[in-house]
Amino acid sequence: MRLIIATKNKGKFREIKKILGGLRIKVISLNELDAKISIRENGKTFFENALKKAMAVSKKYPLELIAGEDSGLEVRILDNRPGIFSRRYSGGNSNDKKNNLKILRELEGLKRKDRKACFRCVIALVKGVKPLKKFEGRLPGFIHDRAVGKGGFGYDPVFYLSRYKKTVAQLFLAEKNRISHRAKAFSKLKKFLAKYGENK
Ligand code: IMP
Repeated sequence: MRLIIATKNKGKFREIKKILGGLRIKVISLNELDAKISIRENGKTFFENALKKAMAVSKKYPLELIAGEDSGLEVRILDNRPGIFSRRYSGGNSNDKKNNLKILRELEGLKRKDRKACFRCVIALVKGVKPLKKFEGRLPGFIHDRAVGKGGFGYDPVFYLSRYKKTVAQLFLAEKNRISHRAKAFSKLKKFLAKYGENK
């Protein structure tokens, strides 16, 4: 049995593969498939987008087990923006650096209590073109006053964890993979798949 993760994002897939390690299921990403798959991420929630990603792959690979994942950053004082727009937050030619600068600018001068944020990850598991189950994970923290650290990707350099006195970009990947929103969601998926595999 194999599981297709409906992503081309190498940073994300590296994390996911580590988290799902030990399962008797081969885990692959879209980069390892031949079919050209176009995904329109125009849902209104993380779950809608996760499901759209999984369904787009399912159309080309209808017999496979597929996990669509959508994740992002929610900043409380910004009414949970950027949310589903996390990747494209700074416009058409967004990149991680520009997105981080935009968030830092928007929160400039605010006290810690107004810098509360949360990373969220939602997974839609699909089999045979039908939704099978939903999984979710969250990581609460704060937006730091500057970008620090070189690890991870996306908003990791500006996402501060009081418990570690570090940004997520300062953590080792193994540490991030123990506590992250993605780790929590994919660990739930892993438990489900371990049982699912036994029953197949
Ligand atoms: P997606 O590829 O459409 O799911 O976009 C997710 C976006 O959310 C990424 O491009 C990042 O900007 C942000 N994001 C999601 N997970 C993380 C994380 O673990 N660290 C930092 N940023 C993240």
